[in-house]
Amino acid sequence: MNAVPDLKLDFPLRDLNTFGIAARAKAYVRIRSVEDLKAVRADPTLSGMPRLVLGGGSNLLLTRDFDGLVLHMTRTGITIAGEDETYRYVTALAGENWHSFVQWTLAQGCPGLENLSLIPGTVGASPIQNIGAYGSELADYVDAVTAFDFSTGDTFTLDASACRFAYRDSVFKHELRDRAVICSVRFRLPTQWQPNLRYAELAAEISAQGLSEPTPQQVSEAVIAIRRRKLPDPAQIGNAGSFFKNPVVSAAQRDALLSRYPALVSYPQSDGNYKLAAGWLIDQCGWKGRSMGQAGVHEKQALVLVNRGGATGAEVLALARRIVDDVQQRFGVTLEPEPVVI
Ligand SMILES: Cc1cc2nc3c(=O)[nH]c(=O)nc-3n(C[C@H](O)[C@H](O)[C@H](O)COP(=O)(O)OP(=O)(O)OC[C@H]3O[C@@H](n4cnc5c(N)ncnc54)[C@H](O)[C@@H]3O)c2cc1C
Repeated sequence: MNAVPDLKLDFPLRDLNTFGIAARAKAYVRIRSVEDLKAVRADPTLSGMPRLVLGGGSNLLLTRDFDGLVLHMTRTGITIAGEDETYRYVTALAGENWHSFVQWTLAQGCPGLENLSLIPGTVGASPIQNIGAYGSELADYVDAVTAFDFSTGDTFTLDASACRFAYRDSVFKHELRDRAVICSVRFRLPTQWQPNLRYAELAAEISAQGLSEPTPQQVSEAVIAIRRRKLPDPAQIGNAGSFFKNPVVSAAQRDALLSRYPALVSYPQSDGNYKLAAGWLIDQCGWKGRSMGQAGVHEKQALVLVNRGGATGAEVLALARRIVDDVQQRFGVTLEPEPVVI
């Protein structure tokens, strides 16, 4: 049996979450292989502890010390796994940095993921909430996900349909929660590439740069430029990106809201419902730029909550709850947090 590698006790997590919240884990292990996961599972003490699988900590709000075991996914590696007429297949291990992986695919002449440039975090976490941005979603490019099952000790592979991807959702947030540790993701990237400029702001950025036939790298650079303008850099001010999901409402509810608020920002969905811009709702409640203690709402983007320095997770959560209450009272719409709250 393998020994559990690198076990550390009472481990500080402040540098491992992009909110920069000071919290500690009872135990911490760096996971560099499936054998490491097997060793943890075989250990009578560790296997009984609550587990938190950690990638880049960019979709996480720690409101307390974690009284359990952190499994930090750090194994990296990328391989081109084959090609057919329609797709090139690329496999990346869970600990790969997402943005570096996207840039790697572009440098190899395998476009497709460019609209998802500069999203923080790891490849292993990308299927969990089906990361998306600028008119593109991870689900469109996943061929299969391979994970370790803590309940059986086996490794299994799901194809994209079995992952049940939806808006910021997947099977890994439901039946497989607390059970599956994603070890690698195989992507299928189109051999016939077309730029995806459905998102108006991205199309405007490309056209402002005078690019009529942008390359994948130019689309990636345009996405990076927009994101740098709009979103705070966690290295400068702690945050976890969008703190709330955009709520989805029925057409009737959207029409009723639109008659009262003609400037309401909403997007039609394929099932007839409408997605509302959560940032607009929060902004209308007057929260943009405000703070409660050291937790605040970003000045440029009402959807992003920030740590103004030394905020506790409880402070951030209290602020989030006030915002949820205000939006509920004013619009009758319930906001849900996007990050995982511990
Ligand atoms: C500035 C900023 C901008 C952002 N922009 C976007 C955006 O445009 N679109 C978007 O979708 N998200 C965005 N995010 C959120 C975040 O980057 C993504 O959700 C990302 O996929 C999280 O990756 P991570 O490795 O940091 O995950 P973590 O924060 O470490 O973990 C998140 C969740 O996934 C689980 N998890 C992590 N790795 C694994 C694994 N290998 N196996 C099983 N479970 C695992 C964790 O247990 C936790 O529940 C943004 C965040 C920030 C800070």
